This record gives sequence, C-alpha cells and structure tokens, in this order.
Amino acid sequence: MVLPIVQYGHPVLRQKGRRVEQIDDRLRQLVADMLETMHDAHGIGLAAQQIGQAIQLAVVDVLSLAKERPSALLVRGEEQDLAQWMPLVLINPELTLEGDRDVISEGCLSFPDINGAVSRPKRALVKTQLLDGRQVEFEAVGMLARCIQHEVDHLNGVLFIDRMNSATRASINGRLKRLQRGD
Ligand SMILES: [Zn+2]
Repeated sequence: MVLPIVQYGHPVLRQKGRRVEQIDDRLRQLVADMLETMHDAHGIGLAAQQIGQAIQLAVVDVLSLAKERPSALLVRGEEQDLAQWMPLVLINPELTLEGDRDVISEGCLSFPDINGAVSRPKRALVKTQLLDGRQVEFEAVGMLARCIQHEVDHLNGVLFIDRMNSATRASINGRLKRLQRGD
C-alpha cells in the first residue's frame, strides 16, 4: 500500500524515533508499505517519520542512481554486490562518519521541489539490524553513504535543511515558508 508522505511543517519530522524492539508481522508490513511508497515516489530513501511514525526504521534503495552517482558497500573491507543488499532496511541504525566530505545537491520526499547543496562525509560505518533480524556492520561509500546519513538524520529529527550552509538555506527560504504554511 502506498502511504501518504508527511511534508515539512508536520511536527513528526522533528521527533527522534524510538527504538524498534520487535521485528514482527506488523513491522514487516510497514516496511513493505514504505518500500512501495518510496518506489512510487521515485525516491532513494524513506524514513518512518516521513510516513508519520517516529521509530528507528528507514529504507534505502540507491540502485536506480548507480550509474550517475556511484555507491559501494563493503563488509570487512570487501566490496559486496550492491544489488544483493538493495533495498536496504535499516532498523536501529548507528553511524560513524569518516573521511573527506563532498557537497552535493539533495532533495527529500518531504520537501517537494526543493533542492540544495549539503556537505557530508563520503564514507559511513553503519551498524544496523536488518529485517531478517541479523545485526550487521558495513561501510557505505558514495551515494549510499550520503543517502544513509540523510535517512538516519530523519530518525533523529534532523532534516537536510539543517545541514545546508546559510547561503543555500537563504536561497530556499521563501519556498520553505510556503511549504510550512501548506500553500
Ligand atoms: Zn528526507
């Protein structure tokens, strides 16, 4: 089922998600709906806050962007087949960020028609539980690292506009105010 996506201005986007304690049928159905919603909206990531639930759960699928914006996923230093890991379901994820940063324009399904440059580290060490219950650790590089950082920010109530520099933020401020008012 495609779920309605919460837009900027809704307070749930500022709520830190509580931990997911149990992977049960209800959670599996929610993940299936979130994946359907993300793909329907042509997004590469969706956090639970964006469908109105403040819990530590996000989905990611960067395969559609793999040509223009490369990604890599490494386990113990060995590069994995990305297609086998996508779509990725992140349950109670924890990040350690490292390496140089790059600045790339980002969008967000909760901010229709708004894009802006965001600086983020190029690599992220990810500790997370998967939908099958396994606890895994991997290194994300490139677009995957960026996308996971954006989604884990959502899980903590942090939005990509918070990461923009003041000039970028100023350039989108008018559109942001209209979105917040619901015009
Ligand atoms: Zn977003």
